Amino acid sequence: MNRPFTVVAVDGPSASGKSTVSRGVAKALGFHYVDSGAMYRTVTWKALEDGLDPADRLQLLALLPRLRIDFEISDHEARMLVDGKYPGPAIREPRVEQKVSIVAAVPEVRQLLVQQQRSLTKFGSLVMEGRDIGSVVFPDTPFKFYIDADPQVRAQRRQRDFAAMKIAASG
Ligand code: C5P
Repeated sequence: MNRPFTVVAVDGPSASGKSTVSRGVAKALGFHYVDSGAMYRTVTWKALEDGLDPADRLQLLALLPRLRIDFEISDHEARMLVDGKYPGPAIREPRVEQKVSIVAAVPEVRQLLVQQQRSLTKFGSLVMEGRDIGSVVFPDTPFKFYIDADPQVRAQRRQRDFAAMKIAASG
């Protein structure tokens, strides 16, 4: 028998603070936090690591069935591993940033990752962030939230994150 579980779906624009809120809510409730964007980033990262062009749909389609996808829970967060490796901060690199939305637009990639996202309830209750979590992945959950922030604050945060990334890349 499947264990009962609850999913809290969190959506919102970039730099709205949705990751911080989602992490905090997950911790407070004893749920696991899932960053669905990180999953699209991980597939993009893997394509780049394998020397593929993530914008080439045929190359991506050939890659997908070869991927071994696993998850581990670390500090109440579900982390996606691909072929046994957790890429960590590498999924935030500019080369991934530039290609992730192209990869995320490929229906076969979405199908694969939506299936993976649904499978994560095997770990228990979740707080999952991402734009389609409440509408497509877990449409039946009554717990759907949209986090937003002042556009000026969001722009400042993005600038700060970008500067931090540049320092990390040069260090
Ligand atoms: O949230 P984050 O910026 O890390 O997401 C990276 C990209 O992955 C987004 O820009 C979007 O193109 C895609 N994405 C998606 N569906 C989700 C989460 C992210 O298409 N549920």
